[in-house]
Amino acid sequence: MNNKTVNVLVAGAGGFIGGHLIEFLLAKGYRVRAVDKKPQTQWYQRNTSIENLTLDLSLLPNCYTAMQGIDEVYNLAADMGGMGFIENNKALCMLSVLINTHLLQAAKDVGAKRFFFASSACVYAAGKQLITDVTALKEADAYPAEPEDGYGWEKLFSERMCRHFREDFGIAARVARYHNVYGPFGTYAGGREKAPAAICRKVIEAKMSAKHEIEIWGDGEQTRSFMFIDDCLKGTFDILQSDWHEPINLGSNQMVSINQLVDIVEGIAGIKLKRSYNLNAPKGVRGRNSDNELIKQVFGWEPSIKLIDGLRQTYAWIEQEMKGSGSGKSVVNLY
Ligand code: NAD
Repeated sequence: MNNKTVNVLVAGAGGFIGGHLIEFLLAKGYRVRAVDKKPQTQWYQRNTSIENLTLDLSLLPNCYTAMQGIDEVYNLAADMGGMGFIENNKALCMLSVLINTHLLQAAKDVGAKRFFFASSACVYAAGKQLITDVTALKEADAYPAEPEDGYGWEKLFSERMCRHFREDFGIAARVARYHNVYGPFGTYAGGREKAPAAICRKVIEAKMSAKHEIEIWGDGEQTRSFMFIDDCLKGTFDILQSDWHEPINLGSNQMVSINQLVDIVEGIAGIKLKRSYNLNAPKGVRGRNSDNELIKQVFGWEPSIKLIDGLRQTYAWIEQEMKGSGSGKSVVNLY
């Protein structure tokens, strides 16, 4: 099928990944409809050449409105954030189940062919993430189920909803388990920000003030991997277009500690800060990494952007935003 005749819905278009995905799909010639519940003045990126709708997709009638004439769906809409948000808002996180369920129902009823669901590494069993030098998580490690409370349970349940819609109704539902995605045009303040953006912001704040100190959540030895947005977009697209229907890891396998992440950002900023460790702050699992054997084998996909390079771009954008507004406001409108 010629891309120009394929109508694509991006749900969660006002968010970080959704905003980038729209530009990626437009560059490939797709016809894109963008939907988010946030007022459009708050979208991180908004392309005025396409149809932009403000709808709460947790409501079934709104999903039918969004889905009219749609062939392919990317569901990136969720009430989410970093550990600070998901540990304290479990009910809100679980309510995202309504978005995916209603989108799937509407997709099936309008005859959409393909459906992408953005799952998360938070589906993985907590007992397999107890040490910093952890074994990278394989797809099979999601079961027996012991996911992150709230957010992770919703993702795991919605993965299965996708599977049953595929098996019972024939919709090509595809699921990627994202491991920490970062980059420009995303949340860096306000409580929903994730570690890379939060650390960039804190380092910039310290640099802009005379107070050369940084607070780190936990002891900083907890480990994670971080995928730059461009790698995420390519992987997401390839997964939706493929015949592979099992949930699959999409993330970097370069594991670093939070202290190492701070080292890198300090290097970019050209500053050294005094660190204080808040051991009572939300920390999440002790160690997590992505095993990329399967995605490499099936898609030949590997992360192509080095952490330092991706962080440079992210840091530059956040710095520009903070200097521009001076308020830490994370909204950018591309009108
Ligand atoms: P984001 O918070 O920037 O974007 C999500 C968007 O969904 C927001 O703009 C929000 O307004 C919208 N939304 C929430 N509820 C909605 C509703 N009821 N109706 C319509 N829109 C609604 O998040 P993101 O980082 O772009 O993440 C996109 C997806 O990827 C989410 O499903 C998230 O759980 C998943 N994910 C992201 C990461 C990451 O590191 N960013 C990691 C794992 C999984």
